[in-house]
This record gives sequence, C-alpha cells and structure tokens, in this order.
Amino acid sequence: MKRTDIVDLRSDTVTRPTPAMLEAMMRAEVGDDVLGDDPTVLALQNKVAQLLGKEAGLFVPSGTMANQIAVRAHTEAGDEIILEADGHTFLFETGALAGVCGVQAQLLPGKRGLLTADQIERGIRGGDYHLPPTKLIILENTHNQGGGTVQPLSLVQEIRGVALRHGIAMHMDGARLWNACVASGKSPKEYASQFESVSVCLSKGLGAPVGSCIAGTKAFIARARRFRKMFGGGMRQSGILAAAGIYALDHHYERLKEDHENAKYFARELSHIKNVQIDINDVETNLVYFGVEGRTPKWVEEQLHERGVWLFAERPNEVRAVTHLDVDRAGLDRALETIRTIVR
Ligand SMILES: *Cc1c(COP(=O)(O)O)cnc(C)c1O
Repeated sequence: MKRTDIVDLRSDTVTRPTPAMLEAMMRAEVGDDVLGDDPTVLALQNKVAQLLGKEAGLFVPSGTMANQIAVRAHTEAGDEIILEADGHTFLFETGALAGVCGVQAQLLPGKRGLLTADQIERGIRGGDYHLPPTKLIILENTHNQGGGTVQPLSLVQEIRGVALRHGIAMHMDGARLWNACVASGKSPKEYASQFESVSVCLSKGLGAPVGSCIAGTKAFIARARRFRKMFGGGMRQSGILAAAGIYALDHHYERLKEDHENAKYFARELSHIKNVQIDINDVETNLVYFGVEGRTPKWVEEQLHERGVWLFAERPNEVRAVTHLDVDRAGLDRALETIRTIVR
C-alpha cells in the first residue's frame, strides 16, 4: 500500500512539513543556540513567551523534555508532585519523574482527566518532616487520556487559589494548549497566567516537525536552560527547526478548529455504526476515543492497520483516532468505510 493511501490517525504528531514551512526553514537565519546567538530560536522563544504572557521562553527538542525540565527546575529530589493519574508526565515519559527528576508522584483519579480543587487540597502534604513536601501541581490541557478534555478556566482558577494558599507552584502540560484555546475561546495568556511554567508543543496540531517550548519568568528559564543542557537538549543551528515553529504558529493555529470539526464529524458518523461504542459529547477537541463491542482495542487496531487505517489501542476498551493537518474529510470517510467493514 502506498504511503499516500494510508489514513494515519495515530496522532497529530504524524504531520509532515508543508512546502511553505520547508521554505521558511531553508530561509532561516541561524547561529549557535547553545552559545545563545541563533536569531531564529530567540525570535521563536520571544514569540511563545509573548503569546503566553511570560517573561521568557525556551525552545527544547520534545514535550517530554519540556515537562521534565520544568519539574526538575521546580523541585529537588524527594519532593512530591500532584498530578492526575493518567497524566502524560507520569504515564508516558518513561519514568523520568523518578529516573531523572527524583520526585515522587501523588496520583489523583480525575473525571475525564479533570481534578477538582478540593481533591488537590486534600492531597497537599507538608509540615511534619516525615512527609514528602508537595512542591508542584501539574495540570494537562487538553488532557490526552481524558479524551482531549479542555480544562475549564474557572476550574484552573479555583485550583490556582489552593496552590497560592499553600505556596505550591503550578505547571501546565500544554502540549495541546492551542487546541484547548481554540475550543474554549480562551487565550493562551488567560490559561498561562494561572501557572508558574507552561510547556507547549509545536509538533502536534501545529504541524512543525520538531520542538516544544517552556515559558516562565526570566529566572526560571535561566535555570531551565541549564537543565536543558544537562539533559542533552542544547542544540546548535536549531533556528532551522525554530523557523518551522514560527511558521506553524503564524499559519496553522486558526485552522485547528477544522481538526475539531473533523473530529466531531468522525465521532458522529461512528455513533451511527452498529457495535461502535462512543459518546459524541466527550469529543471536545481533536481526539476521538471509541470501542467496538465484543472486540479488543488491539484487534481493532490490527484489523484496521492491515487495511491502511492507522490508529492506536489506547485505553483498556477503546482505540484513539486523532484528526490533524494531514487528514481531510475524504480520508475520514475512507476510515469510516473501513471501520464499517471490520465491525460487520
Ligand atoms: C505528546 C505529549 C507530550 C510530549 O510529547 P513528546 O512526544 O515528548 O514531544 C506531553 N504531554 C502531552 C499531554 C502530550 O500529549
């Protein structure tokens, strides 16, 4: 099967750079970013910091590194951090919280990835020196395993109140913050103002080939820059990559709403297929989770893969399909037809 015949719904990371993006990359003015003089990296970092209303930004190779640098910069070994039990930082970052940062995670079960302020407040420890001090709260927005769930700004503000009362920092894993903003109508700044640090991905819905950014105060980013180097994330002529990120922010942000409309369309059509289990109200952004009655997610993944429709078995009873820049309605219709065939 030709690559172009495959409908790839595994993730919004699978997009390839457009010709215009490649051109922007080729034209990028570069320097040596470890030495701090790559003008395109500096421009991207400023742009992201401004978008998020923060003093400074830092370009890093991946979302995982962005989150782990932030955790490392906020904590010391033996500290405790609070996050949702299915949070990416805990579940999908290869144990880096323990292995790299030396922190312990207190996991709280959320509803579709959302924690309440009360729940978090009950989890906060401190005082007695037998206890690990709680130093950081991480919220994921949108929440991946939760279903692409948008954190309501009012909920984030309530949690912020708790954090301030207890003197605990907050980090947002905003790999898909852009999706949360497009879906909710809130600005990146409104969300970011509730957090000491924010990580965002350029290589998911925005369609850049590589890269994430962290934003925070100047002092925090100076500390983060040291850990970026320590973790092996200092890059040299990375302006070539940063140029793709700038292009993506300028040209691919508004269109995220198309991904959301496509996800809703896909979910609606799926809900009409006999034996497909889905709640279309759960589809808030670009992630669509669904199950097939009497079939394991692995079976669904394999059957579809053979027929050129790629997605992942992600939950115990469900597979996940993700809409993005490189999949259109025609592709989704092809995927739907294939799903109808295998569930028949
Ligand atoms: C994808 C993702 C990340 C990090 O991704 P990388 O693959 O390391 O770039 C972090 N958090 C969430 C919620 C994600 O979906």
